[in-house]
Amino acid sequence: MSVPRPLPVTDRDSAAYWTGGANGQLLIERCNGCAYLIHPPTGFCPVCESRDTAPHAVSGRASIISCTVNHKQWMPDLPVPYVLALVALDEQADVLLATNIVDCAPETVFIGMKVQVRFEQNEDLWVPLFAPVESGK
Ligand SMILES: [Zn+2]
Repeated sequence: MSVPRPLPVTDRDSAAYWTGGANGQLLIERCNGCAYLIHPPTGFCPVCESRDTAPHAVSGRASIISCTVNHKQWMPDLPVPYVLALVALDEQADVLLATNIVDCAPETVFIGMKVQVRFEQNEDLWVPLFAPVESGK
């Protein structure tokens, strides 16, 4: 289900992140020189200072490192409560994505929870959201 949300304005660097979900891929910019993952995407590697970067499909698995439950209805059509979270990618712990945790009861979300990306299409963007990894997967 798509919820009404303010959508980002994309640019050359960020377009892949917001559209990779069309192919089921979470695309994070990666340095072609040293393989460092760069987020938010900037076209510049802070490790080796290369400008040779490209979108790279990651697993979409992450861990919640911070979260809060919002109960305030900021927009008339916005269902509450919902979970705001920062998640760290399994591939590189300093890649932090600000997102919502979905497909679970907000009170069951905790720091350290393993989550998996899913995408919510909203106009021509696929917003990366995360849901708990089902046990046994
Ligand atoms: Zn690099």
